[in-house]
Amino acid sequence: MRDSADIIVIGAGIAGVSAAAELAAYGSVMLLEMESLPAYHATGRSAAFFAPAYGNQVVRGITAASEHFYRSPPAEFCEQQLIRPRDCLFIAREDQLASLQAMQRDNPLLQAISAATAYQQVPILAPHYLAAAMRDDRGGDLDVDAVLQAYLRLFRRRGGHLATRQRVRAMQWHQDCWRVQSDTGSFSAAVVVNAAGAWADGIAALAGLSGLGIVPMRRTVLLIDPPENVDISCWPLVLDVDEEFYFKPDAGQLLISPADESPSAPCDAQPEELDVAIAVDRFEKATGLDVGRVNHRWAGLRSFADDRTFVVGFDPRAEGFFWLAGQGGYGVQSAPGLAQLTMSLVTGSRPVGAFATVLDYRDEVAPDRLIAQS
Ligand SMILES: Cc1cc2nc3c(=O)[nH]c(=O)nc-3n(C[C@H](O)[C@H](O)[C@H](O)COP(=O)(O)OP(=O)(O)OC[C@H]3O[C@@H](n4cnc5c(N)ncnc54)[C@H](O)[C@@H]3O)c2cc1C
Repeated sequence: MRDSADIIVIGAGIAGVSAAAELAAYGSVMLLEMESLPAYHATGRSAAFFAPAYGNQVVRGITAASEHFYRSPPAEFCEQQLIRPRDCLFIAREDQLASLQAMQRDNPLLQAISAATAYQQVPILAPHYLAAAMRDDRGGDLDVDAVLQAYLRLFRRRGGHLATRQRVRAMQWHQDCWRVQSDTGSFSAAVVVNAAGAWADGIAALAGLSGLGIVPMRRTVLLIDPPENVDISCWPLVLDVDEEFYFKPDAGQLLISPADESPSAPCDAQPEELDVAIAVDRFEKATGLDVGRVNHRWAGLRSFADDRTFVVGFDPRAEGFFWLAGQGGYGVQSAPGLAQLTMSLVTGSRPVGAFATVLDYRDEVAPDRLIAQS
């Protein structure tokens, strides 16, 4: 396979697919994915939650810019509901009260609620476990597959081409464009967007650049049966304020995570027994319940830059090399905003409406900040 386009996007997770769809309005775009299907890695393994109070100020800002799109997507994008409301409850034990106060200072929209109210909302919390809690009523469950499919449809309508089973193995800047070599193809474009998730630093190495220190971290998730004869469907997502664990209803089961962050090489991540045991232990301590059986378990890689802020922008060391990486644990909820920012920085267009604010963060997400340190 041999092809040329204006822009090549490497990686068909939510980042690459959404950015490719927006960029396709401005020129020809080729989206290269090493797996046989999009979203095989982090995107297909997320907890699918929209948590506006999660992450640092830049993450929250770009998530906020994405909210309107998720709540009211344009009809031509998707007629399905993309987000279903679900509160997010940040809980604290006595020894965690300082963390809760710090969080509230940072997020004035969070509502302090009494422990009694929290127990009413989530009756399985163990008596005396909880000292205080805060509620965020802007949270929700995202339909990740619906978002991904809608972006893919938009991409194709705009003439974009997705090539799967095309692992990028080499690339070289030659005569004003990147020549990109994959397993079976050769592609060229003046701009390459590196949306390779856990592999982002590796793609930079192929381009002859040192990496930016983007570290994949494994996170584990389990599904267990809910307590018998209890309707859990309206429970909030319950998140320990220091992120030691979280749980939430998931299609009739309870999804729980030890909120682990174990550095990993980029790979097809699998759950470790120890992390599964830690998840069960923390959940049991917080609820007093016995977890009889784990119905399903999986793990995925969340990739972070050192400052836990997204990495979006042209690399000043190499012409036409654009980073869209370091989405950490927020890459789904922020994808529409990040795609608009990418479109704007690559094409010079201006995001409009609720997306306009993403440009405010262009310096904070620029790769330059990490190059100075690397
Ligand atoms: C357990 C878990 C829970 C999470 N929960 C949430 C949540 O509730 N809300 C939220 O917003 N986020 C959540 N996240 C984070 C979110 O999933 C990620 O931030 C997001 O999916 C990252 O998207 P991505 O496209 O950058 O990466 P990926 O989805 O990993 O996509 C990168 C793609 O690049 C491809 N690729 C890599 N190298 C090459 C190459 N050489 N050639 C071609 N293709 C290549 C890969 O195959 C992959 O498909 C969670 C993540 C995990 C693991």
